[in-house]
Amino acid sequence: MDYTPEHVRCLIIGSGPAGFTAAIYAARANLSPVLYEGIQPGGQLTTTSKIENFPGYPEGISGTDMMEDLRKQSIKFGCDIRQGIATASDLSKAPYHITIDGEKVIVSETLIIATGATAKYLGLPDEATYAGQGVSACAICDGFFYRKKIVAVVGGGDTACEESSYLSGLASHVYMIVRKNYLRASEIMKERVSGTPNITILFEHEVVGLFGENGVEGAHLVKRRGKSDEEKFNLPIDGLFLAIGHKPNSAIFEKYLDLDETGYILTEQCTPKTKIPGVFAAGDVADPHYQQAITAAGSGCMAAIEAEHYLTANKL
Ligand code: NDP
Repeated sequence: MDYTPEHVRCLIIGSGPAGFTAAIYAARANLSPVLYEGIQPGGQLTTTSKIENFPGYPEGISGTDMMEDLRKQSIKFGCDIRQGIATASDLSKAPYHITIDGEKVIVSETLIIATGATAKYLGLPDEATYAGQGVSACAICDGFFYRKKIVAVVGGGDTACEESSYLSGLASHVYMIVRKNYLRASEIMKERVSGTPNITILFEHEVVGLFGENGVEGAHLVKRRGKSDEEKFNLPIDGLFLAIGHKPNSAIFEKYLDLDETGYILTEQCTPKTKIPGVFAAGDVADPHYQQAITAAGSGCMAAIEAEHYLTANKL
């Protein structure tokens, strides 16, 4: 077996819109990029029913189709796309070492981290049963399909309030299901959801299951779970949105890069530059706020341009 590490100029980790856009730009700039697709080829968008807010698609496009097109476009310009998961990193000095699948080491002059973030789910078997049939973790992606319908949003933070507020403009009614007896969100968001007539906040409630013949028709709820006055009941809903937080996929870099308290990679304001020269972070792994396909694609583009500048400046 050959243990000599492969040496490349530009390594991209992740295959969502940030990774593929970085790949297209890097390949067109002759950086000969290598991209590893990661655990979920195509990223989170492949779990979205239809993308209708990406500019240029007046009829919308399925997440899977968009990612397949981005993949083809990356290959067309010469990106070397491979299956594999980055399992370890050594960013202590340039060039940077990334271990793939626990065995193969790639040594790269520049690294674009586009590993995304993973929406948290409750962990109920019914979430998997109804995936794409009434269970979503993205109101902006999927809310449109619930116009004039009844939905529930799980969570009591800023994301849950924003998603509820957004959905209240589409759905006939929104239930916020909050496990505590207060919202964790900022004051302004609390006021917004409390003052919206078609949002009802169910404090001290938990979802313990879903039911429905053709997609979600309701949720099994428990009020004041485990208390002496615990109540169980069924709430008719057409869709359940999870808004209980995201976990950025940054664990293998935490030893070297600055992360915020949730694990998002910190970059120089308005750029994908991390604190290590030649290492860039693009898309959701470095974005706690926008988390949209278009913003991820934009930051992937910026990362590739920065990688090109770095290689040129260092004559690599
Ligand atoms: P948060 O961690 O702030 O809130 C998560 C919410 O989900 C909490 O109400 C939490 O309940 C609840 N939750 C977590 N796990 C479960 C579970 N298993 N079952 C039921 N409920 C659960 O995450 P957010 O995504 O809302 O926000 C993340 C960060 O991003 C925050 O700092 C937020 O301020 C920021 N943000 C800012 C925005 C803005 O400025 N416009 C917009 C969106 C987010 P509990 O309180 O009981 O733990």
